[in-house]
Amino acid sequence: MQINRRDFLKLSGLSIATLGIGSLSNQKVSAESMKSETPQKFRSAKIDRNIFRIRNGVGDLMYLVEGKNRAALIDTGVGVGDLKKYVETLTDKPLIVLLTHGHVDHASGSAQFEEVYMNHKDDELFKEHTSLETRKGYAGMNPDFAKSLTDSDFQPIDSPSRFKNLSNGMTFDLGGIHLDIFEIPGHTQGMTGILFRENRALLTGDGANMFTFLFSKETLGLKSYQKSLQRLKKFTAKKFEKMYCSHGSGDLTIDYLDRLLEDCDLIFDGKDDRVPFEFMGSQAAIAFAIDQNHNRIDGGIGNIVYDPARISE
Ligand SMILES: [Zn+2]
Ligand SMILES: [Zn+2]
Repeated sequence: MQINRRDFLKLSGLSIATLGIGSLSNQKVSAESMKSETPQKFRSAKIDRNIFRIRNGVGDLMYLVEGKNRAALIDTGVGVGDLKKYVETLTDKPLIVLLTHGHVDHASGSAQFEEVYMNHKDDELFKEHTSLETRKGYAGMNPDFAKSLTDSDFQPIDSPSRFKNLSNGMTFDLGGIHLDIFEIPGHTQGMTGILFRENRALLTGDGANMFTFLFSKETLGLKSYQKSLQRLKKFTAKKFEKMYCSHGSGDLTIDYLDRLLEDCDLIFDGKDDRVPFEFMGSQAAIAFAIDQNHNRIDGGIGNIVYDPARISE
């Protein structure tokens, strides 16, 4: 099954607007307040002594980690607004940029930054996803935010050929703070997780989040994804006490890898709800039925949206 970019956007839109993964448009904001307030391009919160979580106008999350000598910006959002200038209000350290994967909502702002790392397996995906058309479509999921934008707000298109490769086993020493790199192929081929070693925190990006998407041409089948999770669990065991992701609140439960592994098993055994999910004539499935508040009816935490035809792949 091939899912094109528009399908991806539709489903991303569904994830954000319908499934409630943190869009401003999903909040109850009165017409009055929207009149007087243009949604901000970036906001941030300090979530640890040396880590900021930055949220863009569409609700995507980025992370800024500071060491003694330099700082790492993890992901660059949808490439709208002056992210570099914003980051410089948070740190004066020289910056490296690590892209967790090549999707539109994570990689599109890279052109502003000199030293950028991404797994080269996502190069083709990057080219497709960071086009102006895709970025405008994605930003449009928050209509009030999109309305406030002009063409000059969109950062230039970048070329992944200038990026340095980000691969399993790499470590970045920021000066007393180490970032350890783990590949989590599944959501995309080049999906990357990052262990903030001294902070004892694991960032899984979209590789494991509250609605892990596994159904488009760039994703792996469920069996391969479960193997990725098992590897990640093995190599990060006892090394973290917090888990972060790139959408929603950004916080996952500490046992979230186990929950996802269990959910994969339930799907293999045909014990999930397999809620049909059709778009453009193709079938995907939401593993566990949700109520109107997007919580799992069975009381579980998190969910997987997958391609039923690719369970054993
Ligand atoms: Zn993604
Ligand atoms: Zn994402």
